[in-house]
Amino acid sequence: MQVLYKSTRGKGETVTASMAILKGLSEDGGLFVPTSIPKLDVPVEKLAQMTYQETAYEVMSRFLTDFTEEELKNCIVNAYDEKFDTTEIAPLHEADGAYYLELFHGSTIAFKDMALSILPHLMTTAARKNQVKNDIVILTATSGDTGKAALAGFADVPGTRIIVFYPKHGVSPIQEKQMVTQKGANTAVVGITGNFDDAQTAVKKMFNDKELAAELNEAGFQFSSANSINIGRLVPQIVYYVYAYAKLVKKGAIKAGDEINVVVPTGNFGNILAAFYAKQMGLPIHKLICASNENKVLFDFFRTGTYDRKRDFILTTSPSMDILISSNLERLIYRLTGENAEKCAELMQALSQGGEYTITDEMKAGLADFYGNYCSEAETKEAIHETFEKADYVIDPHTAVAAGVYKKYVKDTDDTLPTVIASTASPYKFTRSVMAAISNKGEGLDDFALADELTKISGVKIPRAVEEIRTAPVLHDRVVDAPDMPAAVKDILGIH
Ligand SMILES: *Cc1c(COP(=O)(O)O)cnc(C)c1O
Repeated sequence: MQVLYKSTRGKGETVTASMAILKGLSEDGGLFVPTSIPKLDVPVEKLAQMTYQETAYEVMSRFLTDFTEEELKNCIVNAYDEKFDTTEIAPLHEADGAYYLELFHGSTIAFKDMALSILPHLMTTAARKNQVKNDIVILTATSGDTGKAALAGFADVPGTRIIVFYPKHGVSPIQEKQMVTQKGANTAVVGITGNFDDAQTAVKKMFNDKELAAELNEAGFQFSSANSINIGRLVPQIVYYVYAYAKLVKKGAIKAGDEINVVVPTGNFGNILAAFYAKQMGLPIHKLICASNENKVLFDFFRTGTYDRKRDFILTTSPSMDILISSNLERLIYRLTGENAEKCAELMQALSQGGEYTITDEMKAGLADFYGNYCSEAETKEAIHETFEKADYVIDPHTAVAAGVYKKYVKDTDDTLPTVIASTASPYKFTRSVMAAISNKGEGLDDFALADELTKISGVKIPRAVEEIRTAPVLHDRVVDAPDMPAAVKDILGIH
């Protein structure tokens, strides 16, 4: 059955999956959603015998119906290869009464790799399918992590260029080192003298600059965006929930058809929305447990029905969840309105203009699949400590927020169904916070010395991604002022 995509704010016009991937965002500002959620029509017993790549094909082919089998299989093979440090791609680790689904075995040791390693291949395939002859130029402004994951995904993918801008004095030394050592003839990393907002604003301006687009087109290029609202990032994230479920069946931890819970440390609401789609496909998920840090907009929303971003932005030890506007929530809101694009657009407008919106009681009843809670900074630290003490397993602060919230959930509900916790980053990505929670030996050490100490304490090998940047040469040293970003782009692409 063909699945098409329509905008959460549109008039019902549809596009193919490949067009939705190429466009990223709909012209009316809405997000693309499937016209219907396909059923998972493969028996679990069969899924249980499949590799990650085979599972990916079964799930993704149901959503990306205008891709041929050969096209999609090529994308999958090129994405989930030796870039991952385990053939399982997303292993399950049982610890302290839960199953940790480790989504951090890719190039940048965090879960964004799961989607960003396949997005470039989906995009170039989509371009070919739609007779786009231009090379795709990915422009990204980053405050740290997404930039590196996008660089790693797009590096040396034929038909693409990637240019990442970051605030020269606004990222951590490790984050900067990760980016400026990026290999790949099609990659460029540029520091800017302003802050992240300056970079972001200038990138958005370039996307909307018709004159620049014409100049690029003349030279055989066109811009695209790799940000997290692209349907090409969402669909690959559904895969690992199906994979985890099938692996639990294979292990004998559950029987086919048994329900599980899923806990997701949440920021932009992409990862948990993928789990929601997996449930809609028919995967037996009982509760979708949404874990927030102290930026607990979502917790408040689930409780009260009011989404209110008018509050202080709190810097936490789980920075990838420091978000006050969870963009992907719009896709859920759209469903809750009964797929009423006008109503959805109204609510989103209220959010951007007045900073808040409130859903009706009827819509709120539709949230029954979800449970929301949050962890304070102290609770997050305690969760890292406790998981290490009890289970000899070291988790990163994002995963710890989920672990802490799961404890609260069990206490609140007495529900002890088998539970999968999405583990979104390697502890080696946040070594300082992790060490502070489990040992007093970290004080005064630099980041690499901390990693050496952590490997001694935990027995977990230092990931290749960390080892590599210890000695890697700096390959990118361009720094510009924000107003000069378009000139830098043209120079990088050889347009004069
Ligand atoms: C991006 C990210 C998250 C949040 O995921 P969303 O899909 O934005 O909700 C959680 N943990 C880590 C480590 C991340 O990088």
